[in-house]
Amino acid sequence: MDRCFYCNSLLFLSHYKDIYDNHCCKKHIDEENSVAYCSECLKLVPKSGNQLDDGRVICKDCMGIAVSPDRPYDWILKQVLARLYKAGFNDLKIDDITIWTATSEEMAMYKKGGVNVFNEGFCSVRENGKIKIYIQSHHTKIHFAGVLAHELLHAWCFQHGLFNIPSPIAEGMCNLASYYVYHSIDFPLARIYESMLFADEDPVYGDGFKAMYKFYEEHGWDGVRSIVINSNNE
Ligand SMILES: [Zn+2]
Ligand SMILES: [Zn+2]
Ligand SMILES: [Zn+2]
Repeated sequence: MDRCFYCNSLLFLSHYKDIYDNHCCKKHIDEENSVAYCSECLKLVPKSGNQLDDGRVICKDCMGIAVSPDRPYDWILKQVLARLYKAGFNDLKIDDITIWTATSEEMAMYKKGGVNVFNEGFCSVRENGKIKIYIQSHHTKIHFAGVLAHELLHAWCFQHGLFNIPSPIAEGMCNLASYYVYHSIDFPLARIYESMLFADEDPVYGDGFKAMYKFYEEHGWDGVRSIVINSNNE
């Protein structure tokens, strides 16, 4: 019989479990609010000692491979660019782009909105063509790579004057870039992030991604690019 990882009781009745076969009593999550799923690897962990100031719960293992403002990401950028070039985005001009790792609080400040832990990144362009990308800190390197790929494709759209692409098509293509990066990485976390893209039920991000993925399977990146370019409303 399964035991609760948190209080060690034997679990007779329905209870929570994670993909790593850790189990826990319902009350720790539903009533006490003392256990949660790590937002990066979906493992059940005690909240205490694993929570960021913005409320996200991230386990020690994931923190160990997380990108934070004081950890360089140059190597990740190189890997992501290599994949985007392979997908045919070799005209992406990286010198015009500045990339920042920001806490959720900083992201809210730059975006002039409230703190939203589900906002993993954003990309903005100035009139002089300079582009800034912000990526939420404390994602694992692999997750960071996926978010970076997503935002770099927004930058590519800006660099090509594509400012009015319908959201499901734009976000669908950008999420397809995340998928493409995850799919190329042979590591269990990459499989998790890949499946989260497919499980997303959001009409813009989730449905947009699934539609673009289907199109990508049939027509490849060239087909995806032509849809995106043709969908732009002048
Ligand atoms: Zn328990
Ligand atoms: Zn974790
Ligand atoms: Zn986006």
